[in-house]
Amino acid sequence: MWKNRWSNAKGLRQTKEYVNDIGDEWFKHLKELNRQNLRIVVGFITGHYGFKKHLHRLGLIDSPQCRFCEEEDEDVHHLIWRCPTFEQRRAHPIEKYQWFIRLSTHIGTLMNQQI
Ligand SMILES: [Zn+2]
Repeated sequence: MWKNRWSNAKGLRQTKEYVNDIGDEWFKHLKELNRQNLRIVVGFITGHYGFKKHLHRLGLIDSPQCRFCEEEDEDVHHLIWRCPTFEQRRAHPIEKYQWFIRLSTHIGTLMNQQI
């Protein structure tokens, strides 16, 4: 049921960019998350998690620059793949769902602490 909702959700384009085979395996991992981490991971997958590039586009903040490195605009792509702040955490050779979940919950938690 919530798999259908997921498939129809906005941001599917971005989802597919990062997780190109959304299937049972992915949902198994999501079901194991607590509420807070689930919110973060879904936010990162869909691209809707208070990223500065988006907030800036809406006119809510002055700068789209990454709050961690201030080198590029802050969006999912930057935080997950490019931000030098998370270079070391990115390198762990673990299964891809776990990798995405751990990295996004780590970054999302840090973002929450700054608010
Ligand atoms: Zn950065």
